[in-house]
Amino acid sequence: MSSPNEPLLIATTNRGKAREIAAAFSSTPVRFISLIDAGIESVCPETGKTLEANARAKAEFYSRKSGLLTLAEDSGLEIEALRGRPGVHSARFSGPGATDPKNVAKVLHLLASVPRSGRRARFVCVMALARDGRILDIVRGIVHGTIAPEARGSAGFGYDPIFYYHPLRKTFAELAPDEKNAVSHRGRTLAAMKPRLLRFLPE
Ligand code: IMP
Repeated sequence: MSSPNEPLLIATTNRGKAREIAAAFSSTPVRFISLIDAGIESVCPETGKTLEANARAKAEFYSRKSGLLTLAEDSGLEIEALRGRPGVHSARFSGPGATDPKNVAKVLHLLASVPRSGRRARFVCVMALARDGRILDIVRGIVHGTIAPEARGSAGFGYDPIFYYHPLRKTFAELAPDEKNAVSHRGRTLAAMKPRLLRFLPE
């Protein structure tokens, strides 16, 4: 059961993701709480083999810990020439001590001799909503693009500087936040999740 003024727990420590999720709900009365604000220090192990398994595990884990309606997501970049890698390993692709620039450099290195026609890629996002350890809803969103020959732009996070989005002729890091959210895997997932999620919160 929901209680009046119940906040929505955004179960991510990734600031880029948190910003995009908050933007999607900016026109609603939804009140957010972060893992830090909720005083949750334990970390859910991300050992699933798929984005969906990890999104489910995080939503179940953090909703049980917090007692709150909880939105968790797992997302990643799937590159055709790398047979879907980095996929579920996107955040740590360059190994221990991975950073966004190191991950980007590794992808560019692996694709150095791959021509444009073979650089097709997609971002995938799976979002799970849970309460008291029980999954209430799962939504998935995808956006297609290609891996650019070099990094361009400074907005966004992660692999945005090398994800070239053909309809706008820009990398995701060259888009304003609103432009990215309107077409991105996370934006599409949030657009589908929003009306479903609002049903679980009090008026
Ligand atoms: P995780 O879901 O926390 O395991 O991490 C997902 C990783 O995928 C991020 O750390 C990024 O490297 C990458 N990723 C997911 N969504 C995006 C995006 O919108 N832009 C750029 N990179 C992303």
